[in-house]
Amino acid sequence: MPGLIFDVKPYSINDGPGIRITLFLKGCPLNCAWCHNPESISPQVQKMYTKKKCIGCGSCVEECPENALTLTGDGIVTDPDLCKLCGKCAEVCPTLAIEMSGYQATVDDMMKLIRKETRTLDESNGGVTISGGEPMMQSDFLIELLDALGEEGVHRVVDTTGMTSSEKLLEVAERTDLFLYDLKAMDSDIHKKYTGVGNEKILENLKLLAKSGAEIIVRIPLIKGVNIDRKNIKASAEYIADLPGNIAVNLLPYHDIARAKHEKLEQEYESDEFEEPKLEEINRVIGQFAEYGIVANIGG
Ligand code: SF4
Ligand code: SF4
Repeated sequence: MPGLIFDVKPYSINDGPGIRITLFLKGCPLNCAWCHNPESISPQVQKMYTKKKCIGCGSCVEECPENALTLTGDGIVTDPDLCKLCGKCAEVCPTLAIEMSGYQATVDDMMKLIRKETRTLDESNGGVTISGGEPMMQSDFLIELLDALGEEGVHRVVDTTGMTSSEKLLEVAERTDLFLYDLKAMDSDIHKKYTGVGNEKILENLKLLAKSGAEIIVRIPLIKGVNIDRKNIKASAEYIADLPGNIAVNLLPYHDIARAKHEKLEQEYESDEFEEPKLEEINRVIGQFAEYGIVANIGG
């Protein structure tokens, strides 16, 4: 069964140990207000348009077999009822103003690509990270890919929101060397406000995974106005300190870099309520984790 991929990052150094290839699978059950990869959320192929790259040549309008495109004074307008997401407009666009996000690939396709870099991955004690979106949304493809990587001795990292079936997560854990596990907020109402879902299942799965003996790094995006307050960090540290095993924490300070991608997808992006944390606030968070014996690193 093929997977739906939206990106492949070949020399990643922030998604697990060493140099890695990171595969991004499309589809996510969360809809984080600050998402850096908004094209990851929909489990379908999407068409993206960057107006400032468009030179108004009209090639896409002529090429579209569905007559879904109109060239207006304000750039290209798509009729979503007519567009079949065939991608022909993107193929002829000379400036890449139109791009498609999402393509189908088999495990064999991915393994061929990964094998070309095996030496680099091995020499750096790196491997392959499977991210998203939420890779568990394509769990059959994920399991097949993890098995193929395991057969070739490739180190496997799965980056998950934890919002998934517990049974499937444990199945994936049997073939995963390290989880990067996202934790956005400990208060379920705040979690729901900013991601669209409560956090009960996510916390339950984190505990389950820790009890299974899986190696886990909890990743916390640090966003002023959402989760950097003392109360949330204290609750996060208490929860993590209570889990079995040695769980590391990586802090990912928020940066306002998502706007351009939201514009490409013709989506609203309200980032005014979010702020990048200051260095002293990040240091305070690191100190709060240290009080619970947890080493919190920045990045990764
Ligand atoms: S993706 Fe296909 S149907 Fe949609 S606008 Fe482009 S050419 Fe037309
Ligand atoms: S083909 Fe590309 S550059 Fe030409 S009008 Fe369409 S979107 Fe704009």
